[in-house]
Amino acid sequence: MSTGASGGTAAGRLVLVATPIGNVRDLSPRAADVLRSADVVCCEDTRHSGRLFSRLGITTKRLLSLHGHNEAQRTEEVLRLLEDGLTVALVTDAGTPAISDPGARVVAAAHEAGAVVSIVPGPSAAVAAVAVAGLSAERWCFEGFLPRKGAERTARLAAIAAAPQAVVIYEAPGRVDALVADLASACGGDRLVAVCRELTKLHEQLWRGPLSLAAGLWPADSARGEFVLVLDAARAPAPAEVSPGELAAAVERLMASGLTRRDAVAEAAERAGIARREVYDALAQSGPAAS
Ligand code: SAM
Repeated sequence: MSTGASGGTAAGRLVLVATPIGNVRDLSPRAADVLRSADVVCCEDTRHSGRLFSRLGITTKRLLSLHGHNEAQRTEEVLRLLEDGLTVALVTDAGTPAISDPGARVVAAAHEAGAVVSIVPGPSAAVAAVAVAGLSAERWCFEGFLPRKGAERTARLAAIAAAPQAVVIYEAPGRVDALVADLASACGGDRLVAVCRELTKLHEQLWRGPLSLAAGLWPADSARGEFVLVLDAARAPAPAEVSPGELAAAVERLMASGLTRRDAVAEAAERAGIARREVYDALAQSGPAAS
């Protein structure tokens, strides 16, 4: 259900439906219900989705193609359907629509038009890879496909190398080795990577290790299947050692600038990358000034 400040009056409903990234049985029962009951199902490729639906025994009323090359024009058509009060489902070839796939434009337009926009969540290669990689899953970011070459690629690689969270990257099979080599030169060979291949499919593989050992494992002329990489977060450098005297002096300066003793200790601990307890210990060792 969506609410907002659009002011539009379209009475229809747009439902994004996630479809399997390999294993057809990963389509949820609610996804099947929505696909059956929708007035129109927009598909990235109607033949591909039509085959999936018939394999799962899902009969749909009407399929409409909506892909990268006609999304602008189809958006107008979908808006008319929503204005007529119809329910339009949106699927892509695999995974979650609008995630490195068409959909974002029609979703934005539906919101603007005042339609209800909702989702049947489900498979996405990015989320599946982060969960299974066993790297820094607490915070991560999604890069999708990187620019193929040039200054744009170099800049993205540099940003990725410095990212303090894990990074998810999609890549075509013939380019995985080149990506691994570029990541190794940007991040250093010690950085961990998980290379997830053919997730949920018969030949699912997960290779996990340092970038230096990943080099050459997926030669461009023979790598097959679909790949998603999870690169571990850049580790913050170990905090420099700060002496008890320096810590006490830092607390004194912070108190002189107006902080309470408690806040000054918290700030000094944060700056030194240590626990507050260690700052209190330093104060106790350094005599009465700020203690
Ligand atoms: N919308 C999709 C999603 O939610 O994951 C992504 C679509 S994007 C065009 C396709 C890319 O996703 C592939 O090139 C590959 O990098 C990744 N991908 C999709 N299925 C995958 C799978 N089963 N195993 C590994 N990667 C996969």
